[in-house]
Amino acid sequence: MTRFGIGYDSHRLAPGRPLILGGVEVPSEAGPEGHSDADVLTHAIIDALLGAAGRGDIGERFPDSDPAYAGADSIELLRTVVAELAAAGFAIANVDATLAIERPKLADHKRAMSERLADALGIDAGLVNVKATTGEGIGFVGRGEGIAALAIASISA
Ligand code: MG
Repeated sequence: MTRFGIGYDSHRLAPGRPLILGGVEVPSEAGPEGHSDADVLTHAIIDALLGAAGRGDIGERFPDSDPAYAGADSIELLRTVVAELAAAGFAIANVDATLAIERPKLADHKRAMSERLADALGIDAGLVNVKATTGEGIGFVGRGEGIAALAIASISA
């Protein structure tokens, strides 16, 4: 049986914060604020996987009120979820995601994100697609106030 899950995350951008997306640090004047490394792409993918497996959401699993997750490497959180799904008998089929950020341009970094995520997911990089779009100057993305990520995962049991 094939199952699907969606994930969404957004964070406010602040000057001087690192911009880490899919475990890849992208040179930027601003990065997302957050309790962990604020990797919105990885967070959306974690939620997509938890959704597909019927296992709640990232906020329940890794509460931002828990000091254990302060500055957490989100790729390690993803690895934890991937291991849980594998133990429950789920196989990840593919992941597709879209990042929405006004700047910087991500074209030169998407491939590295796919490869890093694929390594954590335990699947081929060709099965992990990362797309990027801008906000066309409107909304919180367009004004450069924040970044958002959407993801879908398919898994089989
Ligand atoms: Mg988040």
